[in-house]
Amino acid sequence: AAMVKETIRVYARVKPLGRRQQAGSYSVDNEEPLPSLEIAVPRDSADGFINNKRESYKFKFQKIFDQEAKQDVIFDSIAKPVAECVLAGYNGTIFAYGQTGSGKTFTITGGAERYSDRGIIPRTLSYIFDQLQKDSSKVYTTHVSYLEIYNECGYDLLDPRHEASRMEDLPKVTIMEDSDQNIHLKNLSLQQATNEEEALNLLFLGDTNRMIAETPMNQASSRSHCIFTIHISSKEPGSATIRRSKLHLVDLAGSERVAKTGIGGHLLTEAKYINLSLHYLEQVIIALAEKNRSHIPYRNSMMTSVLRDSLGGNCMTTMISTLAMDKRNIDESISTCRFAQRVALIKNEAVLNEEIDPRLMIVQLKKEIQDLKDELALVTGKQRMSELSQEELLQLDELIETFLKENDPDSSLDVGADMRKIKYCFFHMKQIINHPMTSDKKLLSQNTSEEKNSNEELEKLKGLLQQRDNEINILVTMLKKEKKKARDALSQLEATSAGSTVLEQSPSMSLEESQSSSRCFSLKEAKDFSSSVPRLPFLPR
Ligand code: ADP
Ligand code: MG
Repeated sequence: AAMVKETIRVYARVKPLGRRQQAGSYSVDNEEPLPSLEIAVPRDSADGFINNKRESYKFKFQKIFDQEAKQDVIFDSIAKPVAECVLAGYNGTIFAYGQTGSGKTFTITGGAERYSDRGIIPRTLSYIFDQLQKDSSKVYTTHVSYLEIYNECGYDLLDPRHEASRMEDLPKVTIMEDSDQNIHLKNLSLQQATNEEEALNLLFLGDTNRMIAETPMNQASSRSHCIFTIHISSKEPGSATIRRSKLHLVDLAGSERVAKTGIGGHLLTEAKYINLSLHYLEQVIIALAEKNRSHIPYRNSMMTSVLRDSLGGNCMTTMISTLAMDKRNIDESISTCRFAQRVALIKNEAVLNEEIDPRLMIVQLKKEIQDLKDELALVTGKQRMSELSQEELLQLDELIETFLKENDPDSSLDVGADMRKIKYCFFHMKQIINHPMTSDKKLLSQNTSEEKNSNEELEKLKGLLQQRDNEINILVTMLKKEKKKARDALSQLEATSAGSTVLEQSPSMSLEESQSSSRCFSLKEAKDFSSSVPRLPFLPR
C-alpha cells in the first residue's frame, strides 16, 4: 500500500488584539526557509527586580499567520492540503492547541457573526462535497461524528433522539480496544451526510448540544476536547476494493497552566497543566519525540487513545498553535510554541486505507470462475461439470485396475487432460497403498451398495441350500421306504417258495436278485413317486 512518511506540520496563528489589550513584543518572519516567530519577554519590575535585558525566544513553524489572516487563507493554506489527502484515502487530523481565548474554536469552527468567519469545519465540508460531486469515477459515502470529551468521559454530540439540556443527558461514549489494538468508540453515532447541507445541519446540531451542555460549573468550553470527524469511503464501480479515510478536526481544551510562583528564572518550564488529559497528551508527544522509545502512553487518557493514529501513527497530521500575543498572555504563548516545537519532531506514517469487501470479492470471483469455465469449454470443446459422474468414476477404477495389473513396463495410465480425473487416480492409488486389504473392493460410495447386494445374494443362496437339504431328506426317506417295501416283498416271496437256494444268499444279494425280477414294478413305483413329488430342480444338475 502507498505510504507517506511525514512529520506533523505545525502552524501558528496569532489572534487579533482586543481594544484594551497591551501588545506583547513579537516578530514574524515568514521569509526564511523555515518561517520563525520571535517572542521577547520583558524583564520588568513585575518579576520583583529591575532588569532591562530582554530575553527572546525563537520558534520555527511551517508558516505563521499573523493577526490579520482571514479564515479563507487559513483554510486554503492549512486545511485544504489535508482534505485532499483524505479524499485520496489517507487519514488526516487538524488540531488546534492554545490557551483559552486564543482562537481555537474560532479557527476550527468559526465565528457566528459573519459568513466570512466560517472556520475550518464548514469550509472543509463544503470543499469535500464539492470535490465528491465533481468525481463521477467513484461511489462515495460520507458520515460525520462529533465527540466531546470532558473529564475522561465521552459524549455524543450528534444524538438524533433528543436535544440535551445538560451534558449528562448526552449518550456516553466509551472506548473499546479490539484484539488488533484498534480503538473503537462505542455509542458514538455516525450520521450519514449525503450533501453539504446535511453535514452543516449535523454540525449545527452538535454545536448546539455543545453550547447547551456548557455551564459555568463545568466550564466545558475550556476544559473539554471536541472532535468533529468526517468519514469518507469510496469505491470504483465493479471493484471490490474500498478506501476508507477519516478527517479529525479537533478543538482541544485550553492549554493554560498553573505557573509555579515565587522563584524567578525557570518560570515557564515547571508550569503544570490544569487539564490532566493535556498533561497526558504532552507525555505522549515527549515519548514520540524521543528516539528508541518503545512504549507510548496513549492509554492514559481517552483523548490520547482517540487521537492515537493522529500522533505517531497512520495519519497526516497538522497542528495549529493559536496564540494570544497580548502582554499578559506572553508566558502561555511561549508554552504553546514550545509544545509545538516538540510536536514538529513527530513522524507519522500515513498509509492508504484500502480494504477488500469480501461480499464484492465473492461476486467477482464467481464471475471469474464462470469466465474460465466458458473459456475451457471453448478450448476443449467439452462442457465440464463440477463433479465426475458415477459412470466416469467406474471407468477410472477399471483403468487403474488394468494399469496396476499390467506387467508391460511401457504401459501407462492415460485419463486425458482432466485434473479431476488425474486427482481421482492419485486419490485411488493412495487408498490402495494405505489400505491394501480393502483395495480389491471398489472405493466408491457404491461399495456399500455392492456389499449390500452380495449380502442379499448370500442370504438367498443360504435359503436355497436349506430348501435343497429338505428336499434331499424327503428323497432319502422315500428311498428308505422303497427299500423296506422291496425287502418286505422279497421276504414274502421267500416264505411262499421254501427250500429255494436263494435262502442261503445274503440279504444284499437277494436284493440284487430281486432287482431284475421286480424291475418293472420298481420303475412304475418310481414314476409314480416322481410325479407325486414336485419337480426337484437340482436333479438334472
Ligand atoms: P478558544 O476557543 O481558544 O477559547 P475562541 O475561539 O473562543 O478561543 O476565541 C475567543 C474570542 O476571540 C472569540 O470571541 C472569538 O470570536 C475571538 N477570536 C479568536 N480568534 C479570532 C480571529 N482570528 N479573528 C477575530 N476574532 C477572533
Ligand atoms: Mg473554544
